[in-house]
Parts: sequence; structure tokens; C-alpha cells
Amino acid sequence: MKQTAVCIIGAGPSGAAAALQLAQWGIRCIVVDKATFPRDKVCGDGLSGKVITALTRIDPAIAERLQQYLHKVNSWGVTFVSPGRLSMDVPYKPNYNTTDDPPIGFVCKRIHFDQFLVDEIKRRPEIEFIEGVSLDQYQLQPDGYLLSEAGGSFQVKADMVIVANGAHSSFTRHVAGFTVEPAHHMAGVRAYYQGVTDLHKDNFIELHFLKSFLPGYLWVFPLPNGEANVGIGMLSSAVRKDKVNLKQLLTATLEQDPILKARFSNAKAITPIEGYGLPLGSKRRQLAGDRYLLTGDAAYLIDPFTGEGIGNGLYTGRIAAEHAAAALKAGKFGAAELAPYTEHVYKVLGAELSLSTKLQRMVRYKWLFNMLMKMGTRNKQLRELISCMFYEVDVRKKLASPMFYLKLLFNR
Ligand SMILES: Cc1cc2nc3c(=O)[nH]c(=O)nc-3n(C[C@H](O)[C@H](O)[C@H](O)COP(=O)(O)OP(=O)(O)OC[C@H]3O[C@@H](n4cnc5c(N)ncnc54)[C@H](O)[C@@H]3O)c2cc1C
Repeated sequence: MKQTAVCIIGAGPSGAAAALQLAQWGIRCIVVDKATFPRDKVCGDGLSGKVITALTRIDPAIAERLQQYLHKVNSWGVTFVSPGRLSMDVPYKPNYNTTDDPPIGFVCKRIHFDQFLVDEIKRRPEIEFIEGVSLDQYQLQPDGYLLSEAGGSFQVKADMVIVANGAHSSFTRHVAGFTVEPAHHMAGVRAYYQGVTDLHKDNFIELHFLKSFLPGYLWVFPLPNGEANVGIGMLSSAVRKDKVNLKQLLTATLEQDPILKARFSNAKAITPIEGYGLPLGSKRRQLAGDRYLLTGDAAYLIDPFTGEGIGNGLYTGRIAAEHAAAALKAGKFGAAELAPYTEHVYKVLGAELSLSTKLQRMVRYKWLFNMLMKMGTRNKQLRELISCMFYEVDVRKKLASPMFYLKLLFNR
């Protein structure tokens, strides 16, 4: 049986961030992942500005290495397509210059991005990384957590646990007691395609808010080598209510939608369509308990409007490391001592999550969305405002305020 102060379950973005931050402070830990890397993860592969911000906070050298990483494309903006099929190109930065400006967004297949993070983990002597082992049994004992592989062939005893094993975490369900609530959960499917035409020359990511998917969307994200990540995300309550088969819906939309069908007529799916859950942060939850901290998808923290979870995973992994370090120093690991972790996470992400929840609800109103887009195509200021929406909370705040729409209507 292995012994450690901190055991991290999962080596995705959340677990990697926690381990790298602890290592940066000289604190040893064990990271256990059930997969053997490189491994895939069903995702849109979009990396927002939060990724570079979080990695820079851990260690600027890691962020610098990601900037140089070859398996990604730099993305300079978003193309929004409204339910009324109006299209609007919105750069992340007005008047951007692809040669001089540092890129803000990236698209990188998870098989590569997560390998990048695992390579960073492997650089650190403070981190013991164990792959190919699934920790599925959790026993709270007076002096720590005993974590075991089913059958008990592998065991680790830890003073405390950082739970980073994703959307389907059994720890989150069985120990923390979370349940999947369809109104706070999205279902997503994606496939990789080759040969999609009319992709933006500066790799703008495309979000198509089609009538049948609201408040979700269809995305087309450009990748290196002429490939694209194409998928649909839709609120699980809507999927259940209308008995939607997302895989069929994706195929049918690409074959029948008047705009997309031309662009996909010579494209080839190079992977099967695969699905996975997105637990949304549209509800506040308790993220810590006796000897554990929940992070990333295992804490149900995906942005309810954008579907972004990698940035929030990196952020919460880092915050969890901070609270683990404090608990180790104090030698106290009880639920009461770890409770400030929940407060800290919501202090950092709470405003943004609640604004995104409001926006997600507003997007259901097709007329409002169509109106915004019509104005956006004519109004440069509004375009610039929307351009920052995915990155700046203050801008989202404006978009979530009813006054914003009233002013727009009367200033037309
Ligand atoms: C269809 C879809 C599209 C998405 N698109 C985007 C996007 O474009 N941009 C974005 O930012 N986010 C996106 N997301 C969300 C994003 O994928 C997640 O938020 C992100 O992966 C969360 O990281 P994580 O480290 O918390 O969990 P994960 O990435 O899921 O990592 C969890 C790790 O834990 C391991 N594990 C699981 N169980 C065990 C166990 N019992 N024992 C040991 N190890 C275990 C797994 O092998 C895995 O390596 C999307 C999600 C979906 C489903």
C-alpha cells in the first residue's frame, strides 16, 4: 500500500493543475489515472484565454511551452450564427494582428493537450504519476482516506484527496452525494471531420445557434491539418423532453441544413460520433467534505452558456492545491476546515457562472437572439462587446442585464 499526503484522482486538466501547483510549492503528491496516456476525451477541444492565464499562474514557463506547442491552432475569434441564420464574425480583439499579437484562444485535440499536461507532470520529481489504475473504492478512516482499485490489488492511503476524475466521477456521486439534474446538465456529442470547406482563414471557432438546439448549439472548431471538431451540446432536460438522439441530429443537420450541407458535401467523418456529459455550474454546491476537495467536472463546474470546462478545471485544480497546502500545514482535514475551499471557488467563478446561467436562459428566446445578431452585423460597438463575451465577465454582465436590450432597442 502506498502512503501520501495528497492523492489526486484523475490527470485531466483539473488534476494536472492541482499536482503542478503543489509541485511548484515543493509538496509531494500521487496522481492516479485509470487511463494510459495518450488518451482521448470527448470534447470540443476549444481552449479559451483562461487556459494560458491559469498555467501562467502556476508557472509562466508552462504557459510559454504551450504557446510553442505544435499540435494546436491559434484562433482569433468566433463566428456566431443566429437561429435566423445570420452570421457574424467577431474577433477576440478588435484590429488583431496574427503576426504580432499573442493569440488568446486555441483549438487543440484533447489527446494532445492532455498529453502536454501529463508531460509537464512527468517533469516534476515531486509528483508520482500512476496510470492505468482506476480508483473506485473510497474508505474514510480516522487517519486518512484508503483508496483502492476494484478488487483491492492497488491501494493508496492519503491524508487528503483531490477529486479530479471528471463528469462521471463515482466519488462525487457516492461520497459527495451529487446527482445528475437534467436542468443543470448538458449532453454533448462530437466527431472529427476532414475536408470541411469555408473555415475562417484565422481559425475563428463557429457557434451555430440553430432553432432545434436552443439553448444549446452546434460547433465547428478548426484543427491542424485541415481537420475540424464538429459537435452539438444540448441541455439534458430538453434532450429528455423531446427524446432527441443527438448523434442522429448531428448527422441529419450536416446533411440537410441549407448552409452546412454545402460545406460538408465533400467532408469525411474520420472518427465515430461519440458522446459525454457536461455537468453545469448553474447551481451552487458544496465542494469540500471530510478529507476531500472536488475540482473541475467532478465538482460540476462547466460554464452553462459556453460549455467551457477546461479553464474552470485548471482554475479549481489550482485553488484546491492552495487549500490542500493550508490543510497540510495546519494538520487539519475535516469538512469544517476545508469548507473555505467552496467559498474560494465561488468567489473566483461564481459571478461568471451565474451570468452565464442567465445568458443560457435568454438564448432560448429566438427573437432576442435574432435581434441581437441583426444589430450586431450593423453595429461595430456591439460586435466588439460580444467579441469579449467569452473572455470578460464584465461584458457578460452587460449582456445579461435587461437594460442593455432596452437601450439597444431604443438606440436603433
Ligand atoms: C462534447 C463536449 C464538448 C466540450 N467542449 C469543450 C470545449 O470546447 N472547451 C472547454 O473548455 N471544455 C469543453 N468541454 C468540457 C471539458 O471537456 C471538461 O470540462 C474538462 O475535460 C474537465 O476536465 P477535468 O480534468 O475536470 O476532467 P476530465 O478531463 O474528464 O479528466 C478526468 C480524468 O480522470 C480519470 N478518471 C476517471 N475516473 C477515474 C478513476 N475512477 N480513477 C482514476 N482516474 C479516473 C480519467 O481517465 C481522466 O483522465 C466539453 C465537454 C464535452 C462532453
